[in-house]
Amino acid sequence: MRVEVLLGPPGAGKGTMAALISDCAGLSVFVTGDVLRSEIERESELGLSIKEDVEAGRLVDDKTILALVKDFLANHKEGVIFDGFPRTVNQARGLRSLISSQDELRVVYLDVGTETILARLGARRVCPECGSIYNLRFSPPARDLVCDKCNTKLIRRKDDTDEVIRQRIGVYERRTAPLIDYFSDVLIKVDGNGTPSEVFETVRGELCPG
Ligand code: AMP
Repeated sequence: MRVEVLLGPPGAGKGTMAALISDCAGLSVFVTGDVLRSEIERESELGLSIKEDVEAGRLVDDKTILALVKDFLANHKEGVIFDGFPRTVNQARGLRSLISSQDELRVVYLDVGTETILARLGARRVCPECGSIYNLRFSPPARDLVCDKCNTKLIRRKDDTDEVIRQRIGVYERRTAPLIDYFSDVLIKVDGNGTPSEVFETVRGELCPG
């Protein structure tokens, strides 16, 4: 099994890179944030129990996240690209226990500065239908606020407000940044400050050479 993890702060470009890697590596992407948001949307028991945390930018508990990941891996034996998982050392240990030592594990760390994060998240818009991600300044849709792929009206995520963005960056620094050391044996550090195509050039060279 091939497991590619995208690591980096909110706004690092994990979602955009995950979709591009998916095309070149032929693997499915597991976007924990999208799975959680869709549970909230359909008001499932899980959705109701996590809604407050997700909308306030706090992490959902490790047990819930690891159960979702275990389920996904059971149905994707060829491998996966993780966007938004793991986010704590405990989740990272859980991931290592779910895969075997023969499996190929790589962690792409997208290194971006705080200025870049704030500029990207403030102008981020997403398609609620197909999950496409746009940036009104750097990669706008062809038509004003309408998804290029499925014509749905783009929205701003509830947790992309200034206050919640600050909270999410704090959570990232405290809980997720320690994974850079934890994964030092499998880490590929990439400068994530450029345009999506510039960053992807580097990522492709590492993950899909040839
Ligand atoms: P994202 O779309 O990756 O920015 O995730 C949005 C929100 O979903 C986060 O702020 C958390 O509340 C929750 N979330 C996503 N992935 C995880 C995870 N691996 N562990 C805990 N909470 C998560």
